[in-house]
Amino acid sequence: MKRKGLLIVLSGPSGVGKGTVRTAIFNKENQEFTYSVSATTRSPRAGEVHGKDYFFETREDFEEMIEKGELLEYAEYVGNYYGTPMNYVEKTLESGKDVFLEIEVQGAIQVREKMPDGVFIFLTPPDLDELESRIVNRGTDSDEVILKRMKKAREELELMKYYDYSVVNDKVDNAVDAIECIIKSEHLRIDRN
Ligand code: 5GP
Repeated sequence: MKRKGLLIVLSGPSGVGKGTVRTAIFNKENQEFTYSVSATTRSPRAGEVHGKDYFFETREDFEEMIEKGELLEYAEYVGNYYGTPMNYVEKTLESGKDVFLEIEVQGAIQVREKMPDGVFIFLTPPDLDELESRIVNRGTDSDEVILKRMKKAREELELMKYYDYSVVNDKVDNAVDAIECIIKSEHLRIDRN
């Protein structure tokens, strides 16, 4: 029997660099898993493409997806909804391919409950000052949003205990290597069982 794909969930506090690490992983030629594009109600940032970076939805449409049970998980984060379409994840896993989610922590906890066989990786900042300067230097958020994101980041660090692995994002390349190593090991473990 063909084995199902592995669900890999990368999560961690806002601004820790999840997006950068995810992009670095997907820019590598030899990676074999697929990225699950999330839905969100936030507005696109410069250069973001509908269907590639996110599915940009109205609040109404997003709430309809919630009601119809079309989302594997969703969370309201700094005033916007973010969620993972269920159908894509299930179909892709069934086809034997790994699926990679990059989501915030409340969503990751929901996925953990529904799909406990997934591999849950928590990306941590080397320290909180470093995290704040990353969010500020990104230059995309107002002062008010930065304060909210930092408060949330402190609370989110407490949630590390729900994960299988934690990876420190001191350098993107190191974090990517560590994550790839985790995924390879998990494959070996599954194949043995
Ligand atoms: P951003 O607005 O910077 O693109 O994303 C804000 C936060 O939402 C990030 O922590 C990102 O990982 C998270 N996020 C992106 N997509 C999803 C999703 O589908 N579900 C959840 N729960 N969080 C998501």
